[in-house]
Amino acid sequence: MKTIRTTAAMAAWRRRLHREGVTIGFVPTMGALHDGHRSLIRAARMTCDTVVVSIFVNPTQFGPTEDLSNYPRQLGLDRALCLTEGVDVVFAPERRTMYPPGAQTVVAVPAIARRWEGEARPHHFQGVATIVTKLLCLVQPDITWFGQKDYQQAALVQQLMKDLNFPGRLIVHPTVRDSDGLALSSRNIYLSKIHRQAAPVLFRALEAGSAAIHAGERRGASIQRRMARVVAQEPLAVLEYLAVCDPITLEPVSRLPRRVVLLGALRIGRIRLLDNTLVSFRDKV
Ligand code: AMP
Repeated sequence: MKTIRTTAAMAAWRRRLHREGVTIGFVPTMGALHDGHRSLIRAARMTCDTVVVSIFVNPTQFGPTEDLSNYPRQLGLDRALCLTEGVDVVFAPERRTMYPPGAQTVVAVPAIARRWEGEARPHHFQGVATIVTKLLCLVQPDITWFGQKDYQQAALVQQLMKDLNFPGRLIVHPTVRDSDGLALSSRNIYLSKIHRQAAPVLFRALEAGSAAIHAGERRGASIQRRMARVVAQEPLAVLEYLAVCDPITLEPVSRLPRRVVLLGALRIGRIRLLDNTLVSFRDKV
């Protein structure tokens, strides 16, 4: 396994590989790798000849009051996990090679970025869109894996790849959870024991929304209220949003189409938790 630290070395490696005609699978991450990341890497390993994992805590997607300096960093452990999973290249650039002095171009996907995470974190998605574009230009993967865990992010990347004519394909991989339903996240290590016990409330709320749909409820507002009632039962949880949305545009729906995504975010202590679930149904006519 090779570790590449600069954009120039990454571009040179990619040029060499291009001549060999192998397929490249790509898993972009911010490191502090867990079993969620591992499942994306395994999917890439099973599908492509060569697997690249990027590890970069992208400063432009953090707001001024967010946890950039406290974000967990553990490159040694992450490299060990990648080695075990048969990764070919870990691309772990320094900030100054990704954003050299004078860099000014940004990428925006305004409609998808407008609501939900975009509202809670105003510059977040411009940072995400810009770094993903830069990484895709450098790695030029045949297939890129993103997690459903960050549903809005995956939808945004899908749109930007289409709009900017990126040649590769995006695969959205299902969310990996702990046994009590909590979606794995690099930030979960910062939950205290009591907060950790409270954290699955978000998953339970989404499950309640999903159960309501399967029981025949078709009104978005009513499903939203059901989910909110579950969160209200957990005194440690501060709700940010729960929404019943179209799975492509992420606009809220009042009457349900056949497929919806339930999106949710809440805070427990200082930690923001994010989760979602896709629900499809077929009404008898
Ligand atoms: P991050 O390092 O948090 O930026 O995540 C890197 C990639 O891993 C993103 O595409 C995430 O959506 C994905 N990911 C994070 N947590 C999970 C999880 N629990 N299950 C599946 N994918 C995940």
